[in-house]
Amino acid sequence: MELLVEDIPAARVADAPLSGIEGEACSLENYLTLPDHTMDGRIAAARKQLGKSTVLLGHHYQRDEVIRFADFTGDSYRLSKIASNTDARYVVFCGVHFMAESADVLGKAGQQVILPDLNAGCSMADMAEISQVEDCWESLERMGLGEDKITPLTYMNSTAAIKAFCGERGGLVCTSSNAAAAFDWAFARREKILFLPDQHLGRNTAYAMDIPLNEMVVWDPWQINGGVAPERLRAAKVILWKGHCSVHQRFLPSHVDAMRSKYPGIRVIVHPECRWEVCQKADALGSTERLIELVEKAPDGSTFAIGTEIHLVNRLAKQFASSGKHVMTLDDTGCLCTTMYRISPQHLAWALENLIEGRVVNRIQVDEDVKHWAKVALDRMLEIGVPAPKARPAEARASEATQRSA
Ligand code: SF4
Repeated sequence: MELLVEDIPAARVADAPLSGIEGEACSLENYLTLPDHTMDGRIAAARKQLGKSTVLLGHHYQRDEVIRFADFTGDSYRLSKIASNTDARYVVFCGVHFMAESADVLGKAGQQVILPDLNAGCSMADMAEISQVEDCWESLERMGLGEDKITPLTYMNSTAAIKAFCGERGGLVCTSSNAAAAFDWAFARREKILFLPDQHLGRNTAYAMDIPLNEMVVWDPWQINGGVAPERLRAAKVILWKGHCSVHQRFLPSHVDAMRSKYPGIRVIVHPECRWEVCQKADALGSTERLIELVEKAPDGSTFAIGTEIHLVNRLAKQFASSGKHVMTLDDTGCLCTTMYRISPQHLAWALENLIEGRVVNRIQVDEDVKHWAKVALDRMLEIGVPAPKARPAEARASEATQRSA
């Protein structure tokens, strides 16, 4: 009699040998009806069987039931570096679509990148389509603001086509770990930057480099000439694309005020995808790697409110509870990245067990013509690296106070 996954009691699924569920087991529908915990044993067994042929990368915003199986965890910068160095034949990317695309661009010949759920996209990346960016560039060129004046710089959270667009025009990619260094790189070559697609990261980075807000304009792709007068575009140093992260934009200045009045002495640390007004009120800004580092290095007993995705915040709260560090979200309604959440244990088990059967499901493959220039832009980013963060005034004060009390 054929054994179907549904016929196996939950307690037994984890122990079921892969060969016993061959065939039917590789249909995604058979996985989605099963509870999360029944996937643990199967994922672990599949990882073991696949051995060094497969590397599993997990972004910090992934849920615990998935990230615990990752060989490497990190922010998009760290994961893209790992993707460029691994010799594994298969890279299973537990993150979102643009990250898997970058892994494919940076990967070695013959490597294959898998995204366990193709619906794991990014609302910010979706806010800039290549045709809109091309239209924007043509408009700027008509105003005499072409390649000799503007460097196109895109945040990692963008499609491979946009990365290629930037690479081909002397531009590059950055992440929140090295946006300031990428701005320096661009300004050393040309007088202006077109920053895609996150207006907040662009504004926060430029402002921290002493570029006043009135030297930045926001290009709205849904309006003629971006909705900006040509004189303002000619005067601007930074042209910000009108995009944002729907998760980080939820944090408000009032959340910072409420936390400070409820917990005197609390340190508020936020991701630079948050609004400028929130970042101005925070004690420190940083990529997910930097936020983790700030909590790690803080003295025992410190209290933090963190403005970033809820899975990372909850994980830090658990991890540091034993050292008396109190970590909470800046907004207690919870800021969940629903697209990251789409990578479920069921999708992961399905992708891995298909690999065992010799089937590559959900492969992410960037077109060869796009790949070349996207790689140029990504390589420029990797060459810059991640310089040590400069302390902001509030951060420096907090650090001095810590040293004094130590
Ligand atoms: S947190 Fe925001 S920027 Fe990051 S993947 Fe989710 S929607 Fe995109």
